[in-house]
Amino acid sequence: MNFDPESGYALATLACRTGGEHGSEFENSPPIYATSSFCFDSAAQAAARFAGTEPGNVYSRFTNPTVRAFEERLAAMEGGEACIGTSSGMSAILTTVLALLASGDHVICSRSVFGTTVSLFTLFEKFGIQTTFVDPTSLDAWQAAVRPQTKMMFVETPSNPLTEISDIPALAALARECGAWFVVDNCFCTPALQRPLMLGAQIVIHSATKFLDGQGRCLGGAVVAPAAVVQQKLFPFLRTAGPSMSPFNAWVFLKGLETLPLRMQAHSASALKLATFLEQHRAVRRVYYPGLASHPQHALAARQQSGFGGIVSFEVTGGQTAAWRVIDALKLFSITANLGDTRSIVTHPGTTTHGRLSAAQRVEMGISDELIRLSVGLEDAGDLIGDLARALDT
Ligand SMILES: *Cc1c(COP(=O)(O)O)cnc(C)c1O
Repeated sequence: MNFDPESGYALATLACRTGGEHGSEFENSPPIYATSSFCFDSAAQAAARFAGTEPGNVYSRFTNPTVRAFEERLAAMEGGEACIGTSSGMSAILTTVLALLASGDHVICSRSVFGTTVSLFTLFEKFGIQTTFVDPTSLDAWQAAVRPQTKMMFVETPSNPLTEISDIPALAALARECGAWFVVDNCFCTPALQRPLMLGAQIVIHSATKFLDGQGRCLGGAVVAPAAVVQQKLFPFLRTAGPSMSPFNAWVFLKGLETLPLRMQAHSASALKLATFLEQHRAVRRVYYPGLASHPQHALAARQQSGFGGIVSFEVTGGQTAAWRVIDALKLFSITANLGDTRSIVTHPGTTTHGRLSAAQRVEMGISDELIRLSVGLEDAGDLIGDLARALDT
């Protein structure tokens, strides 16, 4: 479902037309409210704004019109009720966990999540929040991990970097059964390709740094959740702890969202071409891309996503030496750890994004030394394939 049942508007319309209102200058492009605080008419009004008995801006740690415009637009696109912007994707996860969980609670987390997300859930152990990491594709594994203290299930689908697909409706049903929050990191698909809230999830996490910006400029994150959860849990935490999004970054993301549906289609179309090429190349052992019929969860991806995304991973033969040689030979791919940029990116997960994990953890996650991750950008797909062909032949 790619439209908002309330307004009846399709996603591309929501992307361009929701969030923010004209300011006093009736500008068509939203302004950046670069101000840390806001003025009050009177001492009484200041008191009322601080107490929350009168709506209005107070201080940009927790109320800023540019950030609010981004939050409203992303919530509409995800089909959610409310949203908070945060300073990064990691602080979106941090905010969600600290606002919703307490010492003694238990989390079940996919073992195939962003490397730093594994580190973060491991760090929570010293505050009494235990996490069990499970195979994201095995419903049995999730079921077996449930304890009476289980209060959250956390998944990233497609996963990073192996693009494993988790069954969102099935996991949502399990979470409801055990009374746990079901949180989906929707970074790889974005609402342009997958809307987890429509599939039964309660909370969606974003690293806005990736496809929402789409041009590799700013760090930011977001949490989309029911209005009551935002008002009673997430917003008070944000206000108190301060992992806040900057107005400038919010403005960049707000404009990024306008082109998101178009960009995700283009990323997906090129990624499929590259994945198809790689799958036929003799120097390539295996390709991970949900759009390929050979992907183990291709049918599930086709069911819950409206496109397959811009991330392609593959293994070469010849170990880390061969993988690094291919990476170094590429000319049109930037060697960097980001993803979701207009500029194509190549990453060696084993020594970068997932390098802080132990060798045993990497083996369990299936991240081999010869694995290479591509974030397919918006350059011409033929040029990218030419570059890959040349690099693989060296
Ligand atoms: C990058 C990323 C994050 C963390 O986001 P930052 O903005 O870098 O803090 C979280 N989840 C996924 C899937 C990511 O790719």
